[in-house]
Amino acid sequence: MGTRAPAAPLSSLAAATRAAPADSSEESAGISGEGGEGSSSESGDDTASQVDLQFLQSVNCASCSKPLLSRAQRRGGRSGVDPGDYLVCDGCRRCFHERCCERSGVATGASRDGSWFHDEGCKRAAAALQQQASKGAAALPGGRAWQLVPLRRGLGGRDGVGAKKQQLHALLEVLAPEYGPGVADQLLDGTGYALLLTSGTQPITAATLDVYGTDLAAVDLFTTKFELRAQGHGTALLHAAEQFLGSKARVRRLLAVAAADEPDALGVMTDKFGFSRLNGRQARALASEFPALQFYERSVLLSKDLSSAARAARLKAATAKAGAAQPAAGGGTLEGGDPAGEGEGGALAAAGSNASVEKRR
Ligand SMILES: [Zn+2]
Ligand SMILES: [Zn+2]
Repeated sequence: MGTRAPAAPLSSLAAATRAAPADSSEESAGISGEGGEGSSSESGDDTASQVDLQFLQSVNCASCSKPLLSRAQRRGGRSGVDPGDYLVCDGCRRCFHERCCERSGVATGASRDGSWFHDEGCKRAAAALQQQASKGAAALPGGRAWQLVPLRRGLGGRDGVGAKKQQLHALLEVLAPEYGPGVADQLLDGTGYALLLTSGTQPITAATLDVYGTDLAAVDLFTTKFELRAQGHGTALLHAAEQFLGSKARVRRLLAVAAADEPDALGVMTDKFGFSRLNGRQARALASEFPALQFYERSVLLSKDLSSAARAARLKAATAKAGAAQPAAGGGTLEGGDPAGEGEGGALAAAGSNASVEKRR
């Protein structure tokens, strides 16, 4: 079986708030037919704020579940919205009435850089991401290296603007042949991160990643250069990212997306990468809990439990230590421990239904 990284439709999981649809009905919340495509760096700030406004007009407060904006505010357009009335978490992108935060004792003051996080988990995850991104490339077996690239404007990283340009160039070299030249706009407009696997100066595999606090991370685009496929590069990048997300950022769940009409790609995600398919109800529950999460109705949402991946990594490290001390006793313990095995699938199904139950209350 090949290791070809499966293709996902462009912008299918675009998480930027600006890609949110105006439609706010319960059934279609978060499931967009058109959103995301055609957003361009030429669209200018007016268009961007217009879409941001549509997002704000369509979401509910994560605390009281009532619409974030009053009817008068929704009618009044941009002029009717007082930014002092609501808060959007810079981690999970959940939206809150300021009064609801005050009532429940959540601090509403922004930090020095203007960011605001609704809880400590969102704050810690963001700090872990920033720290990892500032580290640059980290070595992997086989002479390869992986890195977390921040897409947000202004985050030049340790090495500044020149390095950022180089990283974007490397990402495009992998992503554009698979997803088309429009992917450049998606990277430039991105608010999240990208993952990049390199060998020397050569980019091999690339992905886009959005992180929603400690609850959720989502891989959208994910592909390996055509001539370098079937060599385990996609697996290597995904494992490195999962280990970082699960153990450092403490993210509990990784989402991915596959086109429903590409059974091969779907099979790779489930059989090789250990993801489980979410059904429509589970996908809608996620979409309503995370309003910034967008995906096409025709795509299949896949989920993977990272807390068990983090546990497996810790166990492996502990076993390796024990194995070094007592080779005979420690050696074989983990050989049957397939991180993508049955147990994980069961845990995922349970996590999905819990989320739905919570949502119904
Ligand atoms: Zn509220
Ligand atoms: Zn949050």
